[in-house]
Amino acid sequence: MHADLHSHTCHSDGSLSPAQLVDAARDAGVEALAITDHDTVAGLDAWRRQDNRPGIRVIAGVEISASALGRGVHILGLGIDMDDPDLRALLAEQQRRRRERAEAIADRLAGIGITSARPYVDSLPEEQVICRTHLADHLIAGGHAQDYRRVFKKYLGKGGRAAVADNWISMGEAIESIRQAGGLAVLAHPTRYKLAPRQVSLLVHAFADAGGDGLELSYPNLAAHDQKTLARLAQTHSLSASGGSDFHSPDKPWARLGRFPALPEELETVFSRLPAHGTLSN
Ligand code: AMP
Ligand code: MN
Ligand code: MN
Ligand code: MN
Repeated sequence: MHADLHSHTCHSDGSLSPAQLVDAARDAGVEALAITDHDTVAGLDAWRRQDNRPGIRVIAGVEISASALGRGVHILGLGIDMDDPDLRALLAEQQRRRRERAEAIADRLAGIGITSARPYVDSLPEEQVICRTHLADHLIAGGHAQDYRRVFKKYLGKGGRAAVADNWISMGEAIESIRQAGGLAVLAHPTRYKLAPRQVSLLVHAFADAGGDGLELSYPNLAAHDQKTLARLAQTHSLSASGGSDFHSPDKPWARLGRFPALPEELETVFSRLPAHGTLSN
């Protein structure tokens, strides 16, 4: 079973609707797809309302922003009960914090002469989960930067001119809420947090201690030697292995649906442990 356990729709910062995403995944040879939008299950709600269900297994998921070791990390919840009221309440709070953060970023941008950002943020519909990529797109469209790499470096990333401090729930709270909702908690892309190897190992240790279930250790551009290091850490802390493309959009060719290195054979997979209630269609 070719399972891609990390993907985004237009309900967070992806470009495809859930139906388009599932079609594209099936066309790419994916047999099971987890939809894991940032801090929302709205894409899953939309998917569930469709009557036309193709022959692909869709897994309910979410990617929760949290803080650990003084920085932002992403925790995937896979096979969650998307109707769990406590999880929904937590996600609503995350969305409120996201909007607050976007307003603060926009106000900082106004302070350096970019006054269009605040009206832009205010114009986003209530139900939109606001990611920094929305502001990135706005800044690029306004000619303030050429591409994502530059706009994050200059304005939105750590140390950027409009960067604001993170205010996420703790990693422990994220893990707890995912597990309470019957899902498996997976630490997403551990090499993408700009941590030194020693800190990655501390992060994985803290994640396992807080009750985490799995480590994402197959994703685009992960070097083979980094995967080996992560696989050893997973083994040390009895964590299962997860893999996913982190697909956002067809025009971001570095993350294509279903395309990531194979999982190391010696580890138990997160996919094999997924509960039945987290599957929306077969
Ligand atoms: P947020 O969760 O709102 O902080 O937005 C984070 C999202 O922005 C990530 O999921 C990526 O999709 C994107 N992102 C963050 N940093 C960069 C970067 N340096 N280059 C491109 N995309 C980035
Ligand atoms: Mn994203
Ligand atoms: Mn992420
Ligand atoms: Mn993601």
